[in-house]
Amino acid sequence: MKVLFISDLHLCEQRPETIRAFFAFLSGPARDADALYILGDLFEYWAGDDDASPLISAVADALTALASHGVWLGFMHGNRDFLIGERFARRCGMTLLADPSLVKLDGQYVLLSHGDTLCTDDQAYQQYRDTVRNPQWIDQFLAQDLTTRKQFIDEIRNRSEQAKRDKMAEIMDVNPLAVDDLLRRHAYPTLIHGHTHRPARHLHQVDGRLCERWVLADWDDQAHYLVLQNGAISAHKLRAPPA
Ligand code: MN
Repeated sequence: MKVLFISDLHLCEQRPETIRAFFAFLSGPARDADALYILGDLFEYWAGDDDASPLISAVADALTALASHGVWLGFMHGNRDFLIGERFARRCGMTLLADPSLVKLDGQYVLLSHGDTLCTDDQAYQQYRDTVRNPQWIDQFLAQDLTTRKQFIDEIRNRSEQAKRDKMAEIMDVNPLAVDDLLRRHAYPTLIHGHTHRPARHLHQVDGRLCERWVLADWDDQAHYLVLQNGAISAHKLRAPPA
């Protein structure tokens, strides 16, 4: 069994090299996997499933082709694309996953999360998250026309860039106690998450149990992915072909 994990691609028209890396990844290493888990922030932003840009269509077609090839696709929301709905997931052949999700792969328990809920030191962000993840807020937001929604998202992105510059580096990372608590509540699995853009393999000693925590890399001109095979996890990358 071979399972692949990715997150934080932040696909958008402004980063053509990342788009090329993604298509190279889908038609390359992803094709001989049994399953591919996309753990959030596949897109830089998501205004609603009715947004039909050429990029979105191309991504949907490439994911559909991979699913038709026999690769099981799981998608978990990130903070950038949490508005992706059932309609888009179905179109791509992906199963929507709750955050967190505990899965048994190759006989071992692996807990999957985007990772933003672990950044509890950033209280302003957690408050914002509570607001925009409220189903009522989402319904009201999606009831607006697409142009209005995109304007709102632009404002949020500008404000968030400014806020990130003002925040200390530490509060942008996961809180170690939040990690311990999550591992404890799920009986000490291996944890895989993204979001922080700090790729690493950490070891956590929780209640005398040793847990691995893998942090996925954000993408640039290279695809970054983790592979779970024969009970072991390893990190890989693939350079985008030239334009
Ligand atoms: Mn994120």
